Amino acid sequence: MPHATRTCARFRFYEELNDFLPEQWRKRDFDIEVDRARSVKDAIESAGVPHTEVDLILVDGVSVDFAHVLRGGERVSVYPMFELIDISPILRLRPRPLRDPRFVADVHLGKLARHLRMAGFDTLWDNDWDDDEIVRVAGVQRRTILTRDKGMLRRGEVERGYFVRATQSEEQLAEVLRSLQLEPLVVPFTRCRECNTPLEDVPKSAVLDRLPDKVRAHYERFKRCPGCERVYWEGTHYERMRRLFTT
Ligand SMILES: [Zn+2]
Repeated sequence: MPHATRTCARFRFYEELNDFLPEQWRKRDFDIEVDRARSVKDAIESAGVPHTEVDLILVDGVSVDFAHVLRGGERVSVYPMFELIDISPILRLRPRPLRDPRFVADVHLGKLARHLRMAGFDTLWDNDWDDDEIVRVAGVQRRTILTRDKGMLRRGEVERGYFVRATQSEEQLAEVLRSLQLEPLVVPFTRCRECNTPLEDVPKSAVLDRLPDKVRAHYERFKRCPGCERVYWEGTHYERMRRLFTT
């Protein structure tokens, strides 16, 4: 039937997935052509939503994976990766991924990467890495990509990614902690903000000659980065970051 009418499935995207849709499709049902056979993943991405943002797909009320083929006439509900409503009784596309959260941040998110390290999260960031390298590192090391580039998250080989909405770095940190439900995992001052290496406790006597006078007089607890030799203490920066983590 070469001239058969093209068939459609009726889609609805929930919660923050609407951020990716054109205005006229947000928070309402709309049709996507499936032309008698189209994977649900392909249909979702044709609407502009990266597959990495999707956690649950229901076709006529039944949970399906990305490879599920739509034939036309179905009703498809698409839920975001880190939905705040409780959908735990329903099968997800993958297990909750962030029990041991590790990240690779794109080139524009250097400040966010430093904040995440200060919060204790293993976060790679390199000013010289292009998109290909970020995607490769994320795949090999099973890291979640943090990016403001939706195109990167649409690439097929990306398994885990999060599209950062906020533009200011401290707001980005708050958003990532909240959206990925990381608050309980925050352990401030365990990782070097410059090179991502876990910090070691160091006695004050061992770093005495490297401390500014005021610090030498007022602080007793110190940490040192075995990677780059930086010394950390619980000073003003610590207090500022702690306020960030607890708001
Ligand atoms: Zn370091």
